[in-house]
Amino acid sequence: MNPLYATMPTTIFEIMSGLARETGAINLGQGFPDSNGPSDVVAAAARALTEGSNQYPPMAGLPVLRQAVADHYRRHQGMDLDWEREVTVTSGATEALAAAILALVSPGDEVVLIQPMYDAYLPLVLRAGGVPRFIRLEPPHWRLTAEALADAFTDKTRLVILNNPVNPIGTIWPAEDLALLSEWIVRHDAVAIADEVWEHVIFDGAAHQPIMALPGMRDRTVKIGSGGKIFSLTGWKVGWMCAAPALTRAIARAHQFLTFTTPPNLQTAIAYGLGKDDAYFTAMRADFARARNRLTAGLQTGGWHVLPSAATYFLSVDLPASGIHMDDETFCQMLVREGGVAAIPVSAFYADNPVGSVIRLCFAKKDETLDAGIARMTAAR
Ligand code: PMP
Ligand code: GLN
Repeated sequence: MNPLYATMPTTIFEIMSGLARETGAINLGQGFPDSNGPSDVVAAAARALTEGSNQYPPMAGLPVLRQAVADHYRRHQGMDLDWEREVTVTSGATEALAAAILALVSPGDEVVLIQPMYDAYLPLVLRAGGVPRFIRLEPPHWRLTAEALADAFTDKTRLVILNNPVNPIGTIWPAEDLALLSEWIVRHDAVAIADEVWEHVIFDGAAHQPIMALPGMRDRTVKIGSGGKIFSLTGWKVGWMCAAPALTRAIARAHQFLTFTTPPNLQTAIAYGLGKDDAYFTAMRADFARARNRLTAGLQTGGWHVLPSAATYFLSVDLPASGIHMDDETFCQMLVREGGVAAIPVSAFYADNPVGSVIRLCFAKKDETLDAGIARMTAAR
């Protein structure tokens, strides 16, 4: 076995969902809604399934979805993408990340990773032979500093992996930090993988800023999105990547031997969904913001110190400020087994020196699930 996998732990999302299933805990850990997704999108998939969209689609994805992705980004983010040469459908954002990292990283290349980081990034970089160089964002403001950039970038930097909005901390990159990062990427002639799966789940009137649209970034960014995230259909695993033709061609070579294709009926339905009018996306954001406010208020009333969440399905809780003096991993183990709530320790998003005192909770849940979670969390203090 490759030694990397011999010692690698199981992803925290599977561990916590497994414990929730085993113990009957309310699962506020792994990020998925406890509803069935928009019924018209589900119906579009069912129609495509019964009407015969069941054989291998083209390797780059169904034209209808690739066009819908390009149209969607034109409409919502003012981008100009050539769907035939710059959009590839993948099996979730996870496959897009894997294909891009495998295609772009050669052994010895340095890859800048920004902690807290989504847990798939580092294993994929290491498997490709990349050498990680970490930047840390520190609570409570999670800002990028010029010193951190100067430490991380070298003449071997080839790739930077950026998540915006940020899972697990629910922040949106400030425009100045995004601009600063992009200047360093351009100066080092590096490529950016922009994991923007949370681009639509943003609150309080904020607008998503794709790093690909910043000066010098158009042809050096791989922009990754997820239909599962946009439509709360996380099990569908329909994602995509958008990149200039030369990058797209390189990444397609990795994609062809990872999954080759993604179920065509689901692609058809996501294409339909991406065409929904603005009112749909506005209402979706308002629903998630209401859920965020409900969980925040309930936890605060119960004595928990909640950190602000501007985006994603997640909010986080500061343990010491809530009077809990235990590391986040130990606390999450105790909470799921004894308190009946599954949460995610934010340490899982660090390769070294984790913050260690923050847990993440998912609020993409029905009111009754949130209320039951709040009652149990309140009792657990
Ligand atoms: N990147 C981030 C930051 C995520 O939060 C997730 C899933 N929540 C993914 C990638 C994976 O997305 P998908 O399920 O489409 O593979
Ligand atoms: N991205 C989801 C989360 O952050 C989980 C995805 C997974 O389980 N791999 O909860």
